[in-house]
Amino acid sequence: MHEAFLTALRSALPPEIVDLGTEARVNYGHDETEDLSYPPDVVVRPRNTAEVAATVRLCAEHEIPVTPIGGRTGLSGGALCVHGGVGLSLDRMNAIVDIDERNLQVTVEPGVITQVLMDAVAAKGLYYPPDPSSKGSCTIGGNLAENAGGPRAVKYGVTRDWVLNMEVVLPDGS
Ligand SMILES: Cc1cc2nc3c(=O)[nH]c(=O)nc-3n(C[C@H](O)[C@H](O)[C@H](O)COP(=O)(O)OP(=O)(O)OC[C@H]3O[C@@H](n4cnc5c(N)ncnc54)[C@H](O)[C@@H]3O)c2cc1C
Repeated sequence: MHEAFLTALRSALPPEIVDLGTEARVNYGHDETEDLSYPPDVVVRPRNTAEVAATVRLCAEHEIPVTPIGGRTGLSGGALCVHGGVGLSLDRMNAIVDIDERNLQVTVEPGVITQVLMDAVAAKGLYYPPDPSSKGSCTIGGNLAENAGGPRAVKYGVTRDWVLNMEVVLPDGS
């Protein structure tokens, strides 16, 4: 990994969210796709959108590959860092920001585990249906990126049918 990129990354982000250690790289280097392992060169675990944007912007500027990582339950290798670079794990952004019972809407961060969201709305007598059979480990961000379906999709539709708005970071970091 380019030293200039690492220096820029370290000066832009708090040290506790940048991990170059072998344990983190191996841990975030696989999903449920066969026995494949593609560790990133560095794991970044942002806590807010600004930190995601700063990471993606630096990757664009330095031409470093960046791969978002959710719950790593994917079966199609999407979260594998096949080109190395940055593994951008959203697992720290796991807040349920708001449950709007009157309008039947929720606002969540992307790293919320799907089962956690289901349980939170169930406690208010509501139901969030999409379950790609991995609800205990997968995240809403991963569900969206894969447009996950699962057994309930026949009756309730797939993840995209349940999305009203998204705040997104584009590949240039904007
Ligand atoms: C036992 C089992 C059964 C399954 N059954 C089904 C099924 O019935 N239907 C189905 O659709 N899937 C199924 N899956 C696949 C998988 O669970 C889903 O695709 C799930 O949506 C992946 O979510 P994740 O958080 O684990 O994402 P990950 O595997 O971590 O990532 C998946 C993709 O999403 C991207 N991504 C993750 N988070 C973000 C983010 N915040 N922003 C942008 N991109 C992001 C990653 O880069 C990657 O490309 C199953 C998996 C298992 C292990």
